[in-house]
Amino acid sequence: MQRPYVLSCHCGNIRFEVDAELENLGECNCSTCRRFGMLSWKVPTKAVRLVTEKRSLSTYAWRSVTDFWHFCPICGATMLYTGYAGGIVNVNARCLEDVDVFELKVSRYDGRKLMPPGPLP
Ligand SMILES: [Zn+2]
Repeated sequence: MQRPYVLSCHCGNIRFEVDAELENLGECNCSTCRRFGMLSWKVPTKAVRLVTEKRSLSTYAWRSVTDFWHFCPICGATMLYTGYAGGIVNVNARCLEDVDVFELKVSRYDGRKLMPPGPLP
């Protein structure tokens, strides 16, 4: 695959590019990641470029006003998660175009135990 990688939602409403190595992918079993089908790919914010103009995303704030999940408002695809310190964005690698996610090396993070749902920590 050539960089930048292109990611899109199912209906094509939202598209963005990521110019970073496709590595350090992870899946998590926490209350949000498991429900949203997130395949985490943490990249620098500056590596992400929105291709579609003036398109809205549906946003879900969880636990904190600084942590946001972003979804396509039309097809509902989980696109990315923002709110990390240090200029990091977590994009959903399942939205990669022309990449078979079954061929990617993916690690697991036990968020169910390490980040339990419930009241604010
Ligand atoms: Zn969509």
